[in-house]
Amino acid sequence: MQFTAIMKAACANIVRLTDPRCGTMIHVLKHVESITQHRDRTLLELGVASALFELVKAQEVNLYKASQHGEENYLARVTHVGQDGVSYSQSEFDKGGEPLPLHDRPEMIACVEQSQIVRRHDTTQDLYIHCFPISIDSRALGVLEVVCRAPLTDDDLGTAEGFLGLYRNYLSLLDYSERDTLTGLLNRKTFDENLGKILGLLLSHQAGDEATTQRRRLSDDECGHWLAVLDVDHFKRINDQFGHLYGDEVLLLLARLMGESFRHQDRLFRFGGEEFVVVLRAASKEEVTTALERFRSTVEMRDFPQVGRVTISIGYTAIHPRDSIPDIVGRADEALYYAKGNGRNQICCHEDLLSTGKLSPRTAPEGEIELF
Ligand code: GH3
Ligand code: MG
Ligand code: MG
Repeated sequence: MQFTAIMKAACANIVRLTDPRCGTMIHVLKHVESITQHRDRTLLELGVASALFELVKAQEVNLYKASQHGEENYLARVTHVGQDGVSYSQSEFDKGGEPLPLHDRPEMIACVEQSQIVRRHDTTQDLYIHCFPISIDSRALGVLEVVCRAPLTDDDLGTAEGFLGLYRNYLSLLDYSERDTLTGLLNRKTFDENLGKILGLLLSHQAGDEATTQRRRLSDDECGHWLAVLDVDHFKRINDQFGHLYGDEVLLLLARLMGESFRHQDRLFRFGGEEFVVVLRAASKEEVTTALERFRSTVEMRDFPQVGRVTISIGYTAIHPRDSIPDIVGRADEALYYAKGNGRNQICCHEDLLSTGKLSPRTAPEGEIELF
């Protein structure tokens, strides 16, 4: 079913690219085939940028992702294909280039905020910059920038828009397969893939650091990535007292509150049932503790329709480069178990529980990890 949908999406966008003036259809199809073979966003983006770079004879093609911090919109370059080579961030957890405030690039403001194609002639370098908005369901996701020695012809514009359409449709499909249908949060399958990518990224950063400097092992506070398991307290009672539909409504509202409370770059998963996982990037343990405590108290203060007060318990732990997924989840789960056994409606850090002697070091887990 997914394959049919992908091919329909691809064909809808190819039709306009088959004009003989637009290069041979086979050439375009080869790019489409190479793009649609990926189930990975990074490779998909690289495929789209490379195809355009070649087909419209650009000087460079860049893909920027939009993010919001407070009131300010930022753009970070995640993919670059140019005469000088190719660079890209390795995963959605990689920061990409240094985020630049949107107002530093005035031509991109209309592109991101009004979904307009914007063209600008950079007279200092005699380059023509074309910015295409990337938006899905009226959400501005970013900008595709095509830099050329001459303005794009109508055919080239059609090619760029065709590939952008293909990219958007394909992103929607990826999004659909990665999300939980009730809450819209990332699903369990995506969790394993995402955490695997983070561990790969941490390992490659560590290897890079060790190669250049004799860097010491990062402490928990400096490790940068954290995993928290969140579980609704006495959820069974909510179902029993108000019915399953109200239970579902609580899960949906919790997921919305998570989206509002955590930052754009934090990854939010529904792990199953009434359990959620958050993967956070933070510079210190204090930062993580503050973010989790803020969410816990937001839930506690919220009046849930009909149900009234709902509370959650949270266990969290630092992620290290040589960790395994069951170990990380196991540690967070132990901390959650402690929170549940000691009053609920609280957050517990596994490393803190160890250092205060409330938990003893774990032995290697055997078999499947059972969450709450
Ligand atoms: P604790 O504070 O110890 O976590 O208690 P609890 O009642 O939350 O935990 P328990 O694991 O005993 O119960 C979880 C309940 O969640 C049982 C199950 O029926 C319910 N549940 C699981 N998935 C869903 C769902 O998708 N929707 C609804 N409404 N309920 C669900
Ligand atoms: Mg529960
Ligand atoms: Mg549970």
